[in-house]
Amino acid sequence: MQTVRNLDALQTALTALRRDGHSLALVPTMGALHAGHLSLVEIARDRADRVAVSIFVNPAQFGPNEDLARYPRQEAQDGALLEEAGAQLLWLPDVETMYPQGFATSVHVARLGDRLCGAARPGHFDGVATVVAKLFAQLRPDIAVFGEKDWQQLAIVRRMNADLNLGVDVVGAPIVRDADGLALSSRNAYLSASERQAALALPNALEQAAHDIAEGGGVAAALAAAIASLKAAGFDPVDYVELVDAATLEPMDRLDRAARILAAARIGTTRLIDNRPVAPTK
Ligand code: AMP
Repeated sequence: MQTVRNLDALQTALTALRRDGHSLALVPTMGALHAGHLSLVEIARDRADRVAVSIFVNPAQFGPNEDLARYPRQEAQDGALLEEAGAQLLWLPDVETMYPQGFATSVHVARLGDRLCGAARPGHFDGVATVVAKLFAQLRPDIAVFGEKDWQQLAIVRRMNADLNLGVDVVGAPIVRDADGLALSSRNAYLSASERQAALALPNALEQAAHDIAEGGGVAAALAAAIASLKAAGFDPVDYVELVDAATLEPMDRLDRAARILAAARIGTTRLIDNRPVAPTK
């Protein structure tokens, strides 16, 4: 695997990778890699001849009081994991390379980016959409793989890709969970042992609510029960628990089409997100 850190080296590496018409998949990440990220690399390998992974802790998607400074960075370990996973290229730009002096452009995906995590984290999805647009332009991949763990992010990237005719095949990858059900996340490293235990309330609350709604129970009551169980477990604040249209993310008050239940809540100083599908059983 080749590791490159500047745009000239990136273009040289891409030309070599693309030789003989090889297709290219991109897996964008912020590093501190875990089995969830590696599952994306696996999917990328199945779908394309060559796999590039980017690691960039993107300052533009962190708010002023968020965890940019303490976000875990473990470059050497990440490189070894990606080598083992079979990636051919690691793109490791620094902040100056991505946002040189005078940088002034922002990509805003209206509506989809304004609700849910967009409401709780103003500007977050502008930062995400901007950096993903840049990565698509820098690497020009045939496909890009994103985790369903960040369901709203995936919907926003799909919208932007279609709206701006970027021509990338955007692939969603299933959520990888620990054995007890907690979705893997680089931010789980922040959790104390007792918080890690309490955090299980998040997948459990979503599973219960999804079950109740699928069985025909009232949506408002199921969501209220999920919020109550998160609060009882020590989550504070609960930013949202919502049933939404899986594609448009519009709120739904009855289960009449493909839906997703999405939640975000903080335990201690750690903000966690999770989601799952909801399909009618009758
Ligand atoms: P991050 O490094 O957190 O920005 O995540 C990089 C990519 O990995 C995003 O597309 C995430 O949705 C995806 N990802 C993170 N955690 C998981 C997980 N537990 N299962 C599947 N994909 C994940």
